Amino acid sequence: MGGGSPMQAVLVAPGVKDRKVLAFNRHALKEKDAVAALMRSIAGSGVRSAFHVLDLARVLDLHARWHRELPDVRPYYAVKCNPEPAMLGALAALGAGFDCASRREIEAVLALGVEPGSIVYANPCKPEAHIEYAAQVGVNLTTYDSEEEVAKVKRCHPGCELVLRIKGPVNGDAKVDLGVKYGALADEVVPLLRAAQRAGLAVAGVSFHVGSGGSRTDVYREAIKASRAAFDAAEALGMPPMRVLDIGGGFVAGATFHEAAAVIKEALAQHFGDLPCIEVIGEPGRYFAETAFTLAARVIGKRTRGEVQEYWIDDGVYGSLNCILMDDYVPRPRPLAAGRPGEKTYASTVFGPTCDSLDTVITGYQLPEMSVGEWLVFHDMGAYTTGSGSNFNGFYTSDIKTFLAYCS
Ligand SMILES: *Cc1c(COP(=O)(O)O)cnc(C)c1O
Repeated sequence: MGGGSPMQAVLVAPGVKDRKVLAFNRHALKEKDAVAALMRSIAGSGVRSAFHVLDLARVLDLHARWHRELPDVRPYYAVKCNPEPAMLGALAALGAGFDCASRREIEAVLALGVEPGSIVYANPCKPEAHIEYAAQVGVNLTTYDSEEEVAKVKRCHPGCELVLRIKGPVNGDAKVDLGVKYGALADEVVPLLRAAQRAGLAVAGVSFHVGSGGSRTDVYREAIKASRAAFDAAEALGMPPMRVLDIGGGFVAGATFHEAAAVIKEALAQHFGDLPCIEVIGEPGRYFAETAFTLAARVIGKRTRGEVQEYWIDDGVYGSLNCILMDDYVPRPRPLAAGRPGEKTYASTVFGPTCDSLDTVITGYQLPEMSVGEWLVFHDMGAYTTGSGSNFNGFYTSDIKTFLAYCS
Protein backbone atom coordinates (compact mmCIF):
# COMPACT_ATOMS: atom_id res chain seq x y z
CA MET A 1 0.00 0.00 0.00
CA GLY A 2 3.01 2.29 0.36
CA GLY A 3 3.27 5.17 2.80
CA GLY A 4 0.49 7.49 3.81
CA SER A 5 -3.13 6.87 4.57
CA PRO A 6 -5.25 4.40 2.63
CA MET A 7 -7.07 7.37 1.05
CA GLN A 8 -3.76 8.79 -0.20
CA ALA A 9 -2.94 5.39 -1.69
CA VAL A 10 -6.32 5.36 -3.45
CA LEU A 11 -5.90 8.90 -4.79
CA VAL A 12 -2.59 7.99 -6.50
CA ALA A 13 -3.85 4.62 -7.76
CA PRO A 14 -3.93 3.87 -11.49
CA GLY A 15 -7.45 4.53 -12.75
CA VAL A 16 -7.80 7.35 -10.20
CA LYS A 17 -4.65 9.48 -10.27
CA ASP A 18 -5.15 11.17 -13.63
CA ARG A 19 -8.74 12.09 -12.91
CA LYS A 20 -10.28 14.84 -10.94
CA VAL A 21 -11.57 13.71 -7.55
CA LEU A 22 -14.19 15.99 -6.02
CA ALA A 23 -13.87 16.32 -2.27
CA PHE A 24 -17.12 16.86 -0.44
CA ASN A 25 -18.07 17.15 3.17
CA ARG A 26 -20.93 15.50 4.96
CA HIS A 27 -21.26 18.23 7.55
CA ALA A 28 -24.32 17.14 9.50
CA LEU A 29 -25.89 15.43 6.49
CA LYS A 30 -26.69 11.80 5.99
CA GLU A 31 -24.30 10.24 3.48
CA LYS A 32 -26.95 10.02 0.75
CA ASP A 33 -27.97 13.65 1.20
CA ALA A 34 -24.34 14.72 1.04
CA VAL A 35 -23.92 12.86 -2.27
CA ALA A 36 -27.09 14.53 -3.60
CA ALA A 37 -25.70 17.94 -2.62
CA LEU A 38 -22.53 17.17 -4.56
CA MET A 39 -24.63 16.07 -7.54
CA ARG A 40 -26.48 19.39 -7.46
CA SER A 41 -23.19 21.20 -7.79
CA ILE A 42 -22.12 18.93 -10.68
CA ALA A 43 -25.46 19.45 -12.44
CA GLY A 44 -25.17 23.17 -11.78
CA SER A 45 -21.77 23.26 -13.49
CA GLY A 46 -23.30 22.69 -16.91
CA VAL A 47 -23.43 18.87 -17.15
CA ARG A 48 -26.42 18.01 -19.34
CA SER A 49 -26.65 14.22 -19.38
CA ALA A 50 -26.93 11.31 -16.93
CA PHE A 51 -23.91 10.75 -14.71
CA HIS A 52 -22.76 8.59 -11.84
CA VAL A 53 -20.83 9.62 -8.76
CA LEU A 54 -18.45 7.07 -7.29
CA ASP A 55 -17.66 7.82 -3.64
CA LEU A 56 -14.17 6.41 -3.11
CA ALA A 57 -14.43 6.97 0.64
CA ARG A 58 -17.30 4.52 0.68
CA VAL A 59 -15.14 1.88 -1.04
CA LEU A 60 -12.45 2.53 1.52
CA ASP A 61 -14.88 2.16 4.43
CA LEU A 62 -16.25 -1.08 3.01
CA HIS A 63 -12.74 -2.40 2.56
CA ALA A 64 -11.82 -1.52 6.15
CA ARG A 65 -15.01 -3.17 7.34
CA TRP A 66 -14.21 -6.33 5.35
CA HIS A 67 -10.83 -6.50 7.04
CA ARG A 68 -12.30 -6.00 10.46
CA GLU A 69 -14.94 -8.68 9.99
CA LEU A 70 -13.00 -11.18 7.87
CA PRO A 71 -9.33 -10.42 8.54
CA ASP A 72 -8.12 -13.74 7.19
CA VAL A 73 -10.09 -13.69 3.94
CA ARG A 74 -8.51 -11.76 1.07
CA PRO A 75 -11.16 -10.21 -1.18
CA TYR A 76 -10.81 -10.76 -4.92
CA TYR A 77 -13.21 -8.17 -6.32
CA ALA A 78 -15.54 -9.61 -8.98
CA VAL A 79 -14.88 -7.32 -11.93
CA LYS A 80 -18.15 -8.11 -13.69
CA CYS A 81 -20.09 -6.35 -10.96
CA ASN A 82 -18.75 -2.94 -11.97
CA PRO A 83 -15.60 -2.63 -14.07
CA GLU A 84 -15.16 1.15 -13.57
CA PRO A 85 -11.34 1.56 -13.75
CA ALA A 86 -11.27 3.84 -10.68
CA MET A 87 -13.09 1.17 -8.70
CA LEU A 88 -10.56 -1.44 -9.80
CA GLY A 89 -7.62 0.89 -9.16
CA ALA A 90 -8.86 1.86 -5.71
CA LEU A 91 -9.33 -1.76 -4.67
CA ALA A 92 -5.94 -2.71 -6.11
CA ALA A 93 -4.34 0.09 -4.05
CA LEU A 94 -6.03 -1.30 -0.96
CA GLY A 95 -4.52 -4.71 -1.62
CA ALA A 96 -7.48 -6.58 -3.07
CA GLY A 97 -7.12 -9.27 -5.71
CA PHE A 98 -9.52 -9.72 -8.63
CA ASP A 99 -11.97 -12.28 -9.94
CA CYS A 100 -11.90 -12.04 -13.73
CA ALA A 101 -14.10 -13.99 -16.09
CA SER A 102 -12.73 -13.14 -19.53
CA ARG A 103 -9.70 -11.94 -21.45
CA ARG A 104 -10.83 -8.33 -21.39
CA GLU A 105 -11.43 -8.36 -17.66
CA ILE A 106 -7.94 -9.77 -17.14
CA GLU A 107 -6.51 -7.10 -19.46
CA ALA A 108 -8.31 -4.33 -17.57
CA VAL A 109 -6.90 -5.49 -14.25
CA LEU A 110 -3.36 -6.08 -15.53
CA ALA A 111 -3.41 -2.61 -17.10
CA LEU A 112 -3.61 -1.21 -13.57
CA GLY A 113 -0.35 -2.91 -12.66
CA VAL A 114 -1.92 -5.77 -10.71
CA GLU A 115 0.22 -8.91 -10.51
CA PRO A 116 -1.21 -11.90 -12.43
CA GLY A 117 -0.89 -13.86 -9.18
CA SER A 118 -3.58 -11.63 -7.68
CA ILE A 119 -6.11 -12.73 -10.27
CA VAL A 120 -8.35 -15.76 -10.13
CA TYR A 121 -9.84 -16.62 -13.51
CA ALA A 122 -13.15 -17.58 -11.93
CA ASN A 123 -15.19 -18.61 -14.94
CA PRO A 124 -15.76 -22.38 -14.89
CA CYS A 125 -16.36 -22.51 -18.66
CA LYS A 126 -13.92 -20.48 -20.75
CA PRO A 127 -13.28 -19.95 -24.47
CA GLU A 128 -10.01 -21.55 -25.57
CA ALA A 129 -8.53 -18.29 -26.83
CA HIS A 130 -9.08 -16.68 -23.44
CA ILE A 131 -7.36 -19.58 -21.65
CA GLU A 132 -4.40 -19.22 -24.02
CA TYR A 133 -4.26 -15.53 -23.17
CA ALA A 134 -4.25 -16.36 -19.44
CA ALA A 135 -1.31 -18.69 -20.11
CA GLN A 136 0.58 -15.90 -21.94
CA VAL A 137 0.18 -13.39 -19.12
CA GLY A 138 0.68 -15.82 -16.24
CA VAL A 139 -2.79 -16.04 -14.76
CA ASN A 140 -2.41 -19.54 -13.37
CA LEU A 141 -5.49 -20.23 -11.27
CA THR A 142 -8.90 -21.03 -12.73
CA THR A 143 -12.16 -22.65 -11.70
CA TYR A 144 -13.79 -25.68 -13.34
CA ASP A 145 -16.87 -27.84 -12.89
CA SER A 146 -16.79 -30.15 -15.92
CA GLU A 147 -14.48 -32.77 -17.41
CA GLU A 148 -14.47 -30.90 -20.74
CA GLU A 149 -12.91 -27.93 -18.98
CA VAL A 150 -10.09 -30.10 -17.64
CA ALA A 151 -9.29 -31.25 -21.16
CA LYS A 152 -9.39 -27.67 -22.47
CA VAL A 153 -7.14 -26.27 -19.74
CA LYS A 154 -4.74 -29.17 -20.29
CA ARG A 155 -4.54 -28.29 -24.01
CA CYS A 156 -4.38 -24.49 -23.67
CA HIS A 157 -2.65 -23.86 -20.34
CA PRO A 158 -1.13 -27.04 -18.89
CA GLY A 159 0.67 -25.11 -16.13
CA CYS A 160 -2.60 -23.76 -14.75
CA GLU A 161 -3.85 -24.83 -11.35
CA LEU A 162 -7.54 -25.65 -10.96
CA VAL A 163 -10.10 -24.75 -8.35
CA LEU A 164 -13.11 -27.04 -8.23
CA ARG A 165 -16.34 -25.05 -8.19
CA ILE A 166 -18.97 -26.89 -6.21
CA LYS A 167 -22.65 -26.12 -6.09
CA GLY A 168 -23.69 -24.25 -2.98
CA PRO A 169 -26.97 -24.97 -1.20
CA VAL A 170 -30.12 -23.93 -3.08
CA ASN A 171 -30.66 -20.26 -2.29
CA GLY A 172 -34.10 -19.28 -3.53
CA ASP A 173 -33.82 -16.04 -1.61
CA ALA A 174 -30.95 -14.67 -3.75
CA LYS A 175 -31.60 -12.26 -6.62
CA VAL A 176 -29.38 -14.39 -8.82
CA ASP A 177 -28.99 -18.06 -7.88
CA LEU A 178 -25.81 -18.98 -9.75
CA GLY A 179 -26.17 -22.60 -8.70
CA VAL A 180 -28.60 -23.10 -11.58
CA LYS A 181 -25.70 -22.74 -13.98
CA TYR A 182 -22.49 -23.58 -12.13
CA GLY A 183 -20.99 -25.92 -9.61
CA ALA A 184 -20.32 -29.63 -9.34
CA LEU A 185 -23.01 -31.73 -7.68
CA ALA A 186 -21.90 -33.77 -4.68
CA ASP A 187 -21.61 -36.97 -6.72
CA GLU A 188 -19.61 -35.22 -9.43
CA VAL A 189 -16.84 -34.11 -7.07
CA VAL A 190 -14.82 -37.33 -7.12
CA PRO A 191 -15.06 -37.88 -10.91
CA LEU A 192 -13.96 -34.25 -11.47
CA LEU A 193 -11.02 -34.59 -9.09
CA ARG A 194 -10.03 -37.83 -10.84
CA ALA A 195 -10.23 -36.12 -14.23
CA ALA A 196 -7.75 -33.48 -13.10
CA GLN A 197 -5.52 -36.13 -11.57
CA ARG A 198 -5.48 -38.14 -14.80
CA ALA A 199 -4.70 -35.01 -16.79
CA GLY A 200 -1.82 -34.18 -14.46
CA LEU A 201 -3.34 -30.83 -13.49
CA ALA A 202 -3.05 -29.67 -9.91
CA VAL A 203 -6.26 -28.89 -8.03
CA ALA A 204 -5.36 -26.07 -5.67
CA GLY A 205 -8.69 -25.83 -3.92
CA VAL A 206 -12.44 -25.49 -3.91
CA SER A 207 -14.82 -22.59 -4.63
CA PHE A 208 -18.53 -21.91 -4.43
CA HIS A 209 -20.94 -19.01 -4.86
CA VAL A 210 -24.01 -18.92 -2.64
CA GLY A 211 -25.94 -16.66 -5.04
CA SER A 212 -25.95 -12.91 -5.45
CA GLY A 213 -27.95 -10.41 -3.45
CA GLY A 214 -29.56 -12.72 -0.91
CA SER A 215 -30.15 -12.12 2.77
CA ARG A 216 -29.67 -15.69 4.01
CA THR A 217 -26.31 -16.24 5.65
CA ASP A 218 -26.64 -19.88 6.74
CA VAL A 219 -25.91 -20.87 3.12
CA TYR A 220 -22.22 -20.12 3.76
CA ARG A 221 -22.14 -22.70 6.56
CA GLU A 222 -23.46 -25.48 4.34
CA ALA A 223 -21.18 -24.54 1.46
CA ILE A 224 -18.09 -24.47 3.70
CA LYS A 225 -19.02 -27.89 5.04
CA ALA A 226 -19.40 -29.25 1.49
CA SER A 227 -16.03 -27.71 0.58
CA ARG A 228 -14.35 -29.63 3.37
CA ALA A 229 -15.86 -32.84 2.02
CA ALA A 230 -14.20 -32.07 -1.33
CA PHE A 231 -10.85 -31.40 0.40
CA ASP A 232 -11.16 -34.80 2.07
CA ALA A 233 -12.15 -36.51 -1.19
CA ALA A 234 -8.97 -35.19 -2.83
CA GLU A 235 -6.86 -36.47 0.03
CA ALA A 236 -8.53 -39.88 -0.19
CA LEU A 237 -7.59 -39.98 -3.89
CA GLY A 238 -3.96 -39.43 -2.94
CA MET A 239 -3.84 -35.94 -4.47
CA PRO A 240 -1.50 -33.32 -3.03
CA PRO A 241 -3.19 -31.38 -0.19
CA MET A 242 -5.40 -28.51 -1.37
CA ARG A 243 -4.54 -25.05 -0.07
CA VAL A 244 -7.20 -22.60 -1.34
CA LEU A 245 -10.77 -22.17 -0.19
CA ASP A 246 -12.66 -19.61 -2.25
CA ILE A 247 -15.92 -18.60 -0.55
CA GLY A 248 -17.16 -16.65 -3.59
CA GLY A 249 -19.42 -13.60 -3.52
CA GLY A 250 -22.97 -12.94 -2.42
CA PHE A 251 -22.09 -10.39 0.26
CA VAL A 252 -24.27 -7.35 0.84
CA ALA A 253 -23.06 -4.25 2.70
CA GLY A 254 -24.89 -3.49 5.93
CA ALA A 255 -26.01 -5.57 8.88
CA THR A 256 -26.24 -8.75 6.79
CA PHE A 257 -22.50 -8.58 6.23
CA HIS A 258 -21.76 -8.80 9.93
CA GLU A 259 -24.04 -11.82 10.17
CA ALA A 260 -22.48 -13.52 7.15
CA ALA A 261 -18.97 -12.90 8.51
CA ALA A 262 -19.92 -14.46 11.86
CA VAL A 263 -21.34 -17.55 10.15
CA ILE A 264 -18.25 -17.86 7.96
CA LYS A 265 -15.78 -17.53 10.83
CA GLU A 266 -17.65 -20.11 12.84
CA ALA A 267 -17.93 -22.55 9.92
CA LEU A 268 -14.24 -22.11 9.06
CA ALA A 269 -13.28 -22.87 12.65
CA GLN A 270 -15.54 -25.90 12.69
CA HIS A 271 -14.67 -27.41 9.31
CA PHE A 272 -11.19 -26.09 8.57
CA GLY A 273 -9.85 -25.48 12.08
CA ASP A 274 -7.44 -28.40 11.70
CA LEU A 275 -6.05 -26.94 8.44
CA PRO A 276 -4.67 -23.58 9.60
CA CYS A 277 -2.44 -23.14 6.56
CA ILE A 278 -5.14 -22.92 3.92
CA GLU A 279 -5.61 -19.63 2.17
CA VAL A 280 -9.21 -18.41 2.29
CA ILE A 281 -10.27 -15.94 -0.38
CA GLY A 282 -13.61 -14.37 -1.34
CA GLU A 283 -14.98 -12.87 -4.54
CA PRO A 284 -17.20 -9.99 -3.40
CA GLY A 285 -18.76 -7.86 -6.14
CA ARG A 286 -22.00 -6.29 -4.93
CA TYR A 287 -20.58 -5.71 -1.43
CA PHE A 288 -18.06 -3.14 -2.71
CA ALA A 289 -19.92 -1.65 -5.66
CA GLU A 290 -23.61 -1.36 -4.85
CA THR A 291 -23.68 1.53 -2.41
CA ALA A 292 -20.61 3.35 -3.76
CA PHE A 293 -22.32 4.63 -6.92
CA THR A 294 -25.20 7.09 -7.28
CA LEU A 295 -26.90 7.96 -10.56
CA ALA A 296 -28.37 11.28 -11.61
CA ALA A 297 -30.55 11.04 -14.74
CA ARG A 298 -31.93 14.11 -16.49
CA VAL A 299 -35.56 14.62 -17.43
CA ILE A 300 -35.54 14.99 -21.21
CA GLY A 301 -39.25 14.80 -21.93
CA LYS A 302 -42.62 15.17 -20.26
CA ARG A 303 -46.30 14.55 -20.96
CA THR A 304 -49.31 15.07 -18.71
CA ARG A 305 -52.19 12.65 -19.16
CA GLY A 306 -55.04 13.48 -16.86
CA GLU A 307 -53.76 12.91 -13.34
CA VAL A 308 -50.69 11.00 -14.51
CA GLN A 309 -47.35 12.65 -15.18
CA GLU A 310 -45.09 10.91 -17.68
CA TYR A 311 -41.39 11.64 -17.91
CA TRP A 312 -38.56 10.51 -20.14
CA ILE A 313 -35.07 10.40 -18.63
CA ASP A 314 -31.72 9.85 -20.33
CA ASP A 315 -30.90 6.47 -18.74
CA GLY A 316 -33.06 3.39 -18.81
CA VAL A 317 -33.23 -0.38 -18.88
CA TYR A 318 -30.87 -0.58 -21.86
CA GLY A 319 -28.38 1.60 -19.99
CA SER A 320 -27.17 1.50 -16.40
CA LEU A 321 -30.74 0.96 -15.17
CA ASN A 322 -30.68 -2.49 -16.82
CA CYS A 323 -30.37 -3.64 -13.18
CA ILE A 324 -34.16 -3.22 -12.98
CA LEU A 325 -34.59 -6.17 -15.35
CA MET A 326 -31.36 -8.07 -14.73
CA ASP A 327 -30.82 -7.63 -11.01
CA ASP A 328 -34.24 -6.94 -9.47
CA TYR A 329 -33.20 -3.40 -8.62
CA VAL A 330 -36.14 -1.49 -7.17
CA PRO A 331 -35.84 2.15 -8.24
CA ARG A 332 -36.82 4.77 -5.69
CA PRO A 333 -35.70 7.95 -7.39
CA ARG A 334 -35.95 11.36 -5.75
CA PRO A 335 -35.78 14.72 -7.47
CA LEU A 336 -32.31 16.20 -7.18
CA ALA A 337 -33.75 19.62 -6.41
CA ALA A 338 -34.42 20.06 -2.73
CA GLY A 339 -38.11 19.40 -2.06
CA ARG A 340 -40.50 21.83 -0.47
CA PRO A 341 -42.32 20.51 2.59
CA GLY A 342 -45.91 19.54 1.85
CA GLU A 343 -45.27 19.56 -1.89
CA LYS A 344 -48.03 17.85 -3.91
CA THR A 345 -47.02 14.62 -5.61
CA TYR A 346 -48.49 12.83 -8.63
CA ALA A 347 -48.63 9.23 -9.79
CA SER A 348 -45.80 9.30 -12.30
CA THR A 349 -44.36 7.09 -15.00
CA VAL A 350 -40.67 7.35 -15.84
CA PHE A 351 -39.48 6.05 -19.22
CA GLY A 352 -35.94 5.46 -20.48
CA PRO A 353 -34.70 7.18 -23.63
CA THR A 354 -34.93 4.36 -26.21
CA CYS A 355 -37.96 3.80 -28.42
CA ASP A 356 -38.81 0.43 -26.90
CA SER A 357 -41.85 0.37 -24.60
CA LEU A 358 -40.00 -2.13 -22.40
CA ASP A 359 -37.70 0.78 -21.56
CA THR A 360 -39.82 1.85 -18.59
CA VAL A 361 -38.09 2.66 -15.32
CA ILE A 362 -41.07 2.93 -13.00
CA THR A 363 -44.87 3.37 -13.09
CA GLY A 364 -47.40 4.61 -10.55
CA TYR A 365 -44.64 6.25 -8.54
CA GLN A 366 -45.28 9.39 -6.51
CA LEU A 367 -43.16 12.36 -7.56
CA PRO A 368 -43.61 16.10 -7.30
CA GLU A 369 -44.13 17.75 -10.66
CA MET A 370 -40.85 18.05 -12.55
CA SER A 371 -39.75 19.96 -15.62
CA VAL A 372 -37.52 19.06 -18.53
CA GLY A 373 -33.93 19.71 -17.47
CA GLU A 374 -34.48 18.63 -13.86
CA TRP A 375 -32.84 15.53 -12.43
CA LEU A 376 -33.77 12.30 -10.67
CA VAL A 377 -31.33 10.64 -8.28
CA PHE A 378 -31.03 6.86 -7.92
CA HIS A 379 -29.01 5.56 -4.97
CA ASP A 380 -27.15 2.24 -4.67
CA MET A 381 -26.51 2.06 -8.41
CA GLY A 382 -23.11 0.33 -8.43
CA ALA A 383 -23.90 -3.37 -8.79
CA TYR A 384 -24.59 -4.84 -12.23
CA THR A 385 -25.41 -1.47 -13.80
CA THR A 386 -22.96 0.28 -16.14
CA GLY A 387 -21.12 -2.99 -16.81
CA SER A 388 -24.13 -4.69 -18.33
CA GLY A 389 -25.80 -1.83 -20.23
CA SER A 390 -26.00 -1.80 -24.02
CA ASN A 391 -25.69 0.65 -26.91
CA PHE A 392 -29.26 0.03 -28.04
CA ASN A 393 -30.82 2.72 -30.21
CA GLY A 394 -27.58 4.70 -30.15
CA PHE A 395 -27.75 5.43 -26.43
CA TYR A 396 -24.34 4.22 -25.30
CA THR A 397 -24.09 3.18 -21.66
CA SER A 398 -20.41 4.13 -21.86
CA ASP A 399 -21.45 7.76 -22.52
CA ILE A 400 -22.74 7.98 -18.95
CA LYS A 401 -19.87 9.71 -17.21
CA THR A 402 -18.64 8.74 -13.74
CA PHE A 403 -17.43 11.54 -11.48
CA LEU A 404 -15.04 10.49 -8.74
CA ALA A 405 -15.55 11.93 -5.31
CA TYR A 406 -14.61 11.34 -1.75
CA CYS A 407 -16.64 12.23 1.24
CA SER A 408 -14.75 13.44 4.28
C1 LIG B 1 -20.78 -12.76 -10.06
C2 LIG B 1 -19.76 -13.52 -9.33
C3 LIG B 1 -19.23 -13.02 -8.13
C4 LIG B 1 -19.73 -11.76 -7.46
O1 LIG B 1 -20.94 -11.98 -6.85
P1 LIG B 1 -21.60 -10.88 -5.87
O2 LIG B 1 -22.87 -11.50 -5.47
O3 LIG B 1 -21.75 -9.63 -6.66
O4 LIG B 1 -20.67 -10.70 -4.73
C5 LIG B 1 -18.23 -13.75 -7.52
N1 LIG B 1 -17.76 -14.90 -8.05
C6 LIG B 1 -18.25 -15.40 -9.21
C7 LIG B 1 -17.67 -16.65 -9.75
C8 LIG B 1 -19.26 -14.73 -9.87
O5 LIG B 1 -19.74 -15.25 -11.02
